[in-house]
Amino acid sequence: MPEPDAGVLARRREIVAAMRAIVPGEGVIDHPDGLRAYEADGLTAYRQPPLVVVLPETTEQVARVLAWCHANRVKVVPRGAGTSLSGGALPLADGVLLGLSKLNRILDIDYADRIAVVQPGVTNLAITRAVEEQGFYYAPDPSSQIACSIGGNVAENAGGVHCLKYGLTTNNVLGVELVTIEGEVLRLGGRGLESAGLDLLGLVVGSEGLLGVVTEVTVRILPRPQTARALLIGFAEIETAGQCVAEVIAAGIIPAGMEMMDRAAIHAAEAFVHAGYPLDVEALLIVELDGPEGECAHLIGEIEAIARSNGAVSIRASASDAERASFWAGRKAAFPAAGRISPDYYCMDGTIPRRRLPDVLRRMGVLSEQYGLRVINVFHAGDGNLHPMILYDANQPGELETAEAFGADILRLCVEVGGVLTGEHGVGVEKRDLMPVMFSPVDLAQQQRVKCAFDPELLLNPGKMFPELHRCAELGRMHVHGGAVPFPELPRF
Ligand SMILES: Cc1cc2nc3c(=O)[nH]c(=O)nc-3n(C[C@H](O)[C@H](O)[C@H](O)COP(=O)(O)OP(=O)(O)OC[C@H]3O[C@@H](n4cnc5c(N)ncnc54)[C@H](O)[C@@H]3O)c2cc1C
Repeated sequence: MPEPDAGVLARRREIVAAMRAIVPGEGVIDHPDGLRAYEADGLTAYRQPPLVVVLPETTEQVARVLAWCHANRVKVVPRGAGTSLSGGALPLADGVLLGLSKLNRILDIDYADRIAVVQPGVTNLAITRAVEEQGFYYAPDPSSQIACSIGGNVAENAGGVHCLKYGLTTNNVLGVELVTIEGEVLRLGGRGLESAGLDLLGLVVGSEGLLGVVTEVTVRILPRPQTARALLIGFAEIETAGQCVAEVIAAGIIPAGMEMMDRAAIHAAEAFVHAGYPLDVEALLIVELDGPEGECAHLIGEIEAIARSNGAVSIRASASDAERASFWAGRKAAFPAAGRISPDYYCMDGTIPRRRLPDVLRRMGVLSEQYGLRVINVFHAGDGNLHPMILYDANQPGELETAEAFGADILRLCVEVGGVLTGEHGVGVEKRDLMPVMFSPVDLAQQQRVKCAFDPELLLNPGKMFPELHRCAELGRMHVHGGAVPFPELPRF
């Protein structure tokens, strides 16, 4: 992380007093015991208590905090619920941690337009809870949905089981209110599908708190499908399970969700939640179909046929909602299940072309032997998004570093086979130093120019996403090689 600025550390009392003047009452935490609660996000391997925690309750307070920090050159790390798995909300010793959890109101629900307008601290699941009585729901469903905030979902472009059919956060957010580091309040997008101008909303979704602070989100809500049924399909080989996934998609079927678990994950999950998973298979697919009853029944028949032709050894179709929920229970509890069998685990998040799955899994097995650490695998198989969990013990000297090196090799492998470094957990600090594996220096400089357009002093969440932060003035320079001005035909101002 960037070296803390001694000048800022020395001004701590002044900074805390300024924050108290903007956010009165209990909204400013500066006692070491209180700060400890915020020292890490879901990537608990890295910890750093912040300079001070500020918990505003209004957009106006957010804007004043940011404007003050900008004027006084103090860094700011936005934080939702702190469930990020990539260290996106990891605090800075010389930075304000700006928690959005008190902005937690649902502002408007419009069933006719099928939208909900919510503050950023509202949890993902709370949106569905607010609209379910009327038969609606919010589709993106990260496994952390009971805790993670919609502001954090926007910042990470979060995904979930149902994103295969219904899209990621970016496909379900229509507009945001964004406060810039200067304290200006912008509105990007709106209440409909189209809005005028450049797609700045698309830029902000997935920007990991580096461009501005989201203070309001307008999301699409969808009517609950008439029926949802799930299939639980066991395979004797992971390769044939991967082939089945590829053939289902190739047949033009887009299930509501299609998840895969390997043998180790099946055993860990079954021991934890007793979901009734078969224990004699190498790979398990959970495939959910939703829509009108007849369509679900028809598609279940088609998928069963594809599964059989790929040598499925067991197939169960849910007969009730309770049974469907039990199929999902193990998958949804895969992370805590890993936590039961290992003191620590490190969850990766690479994405690969679906057809490379068997090859990647085989090579991951080889890496597991080389590094001497076990790995268990759950995937959003339909999207090719892998979540290998490397099991380690942080109390054993050197094991964290070995797990990190193993994880980095897995992500390099994902890029090598034509995939990407992250599917849904973001870059944060976790994958920051691997960005050059995926992007050229020119790509990275161009991405940083976008950052500079929003935050020229690099005060918002520095140390995340970019392996090196160049001063913005440096990036703005025109490079003249051998006296030749690039594009001489263009007028210069
Ligand atoms: C058990 C478990 C399961 C998970 N499963 C999934 C999953 O299935 N799919 C998935 O996508 N993720 C998953 N995650 C990761 C995590 O829940 C998501 O990344 C989530 O979107 C983070 O939301 P949060 O509110 O906790 O954000 P935080 O962790 O607080 O912050 C995440 C990032 O967003 C920024 N940020 C937060 N709020 C704002 C805001 N209002 N404005 C600007 N920037 C902001 C922060 O600076 C940080 O960079 C899982 C995590 C856990 C612990």
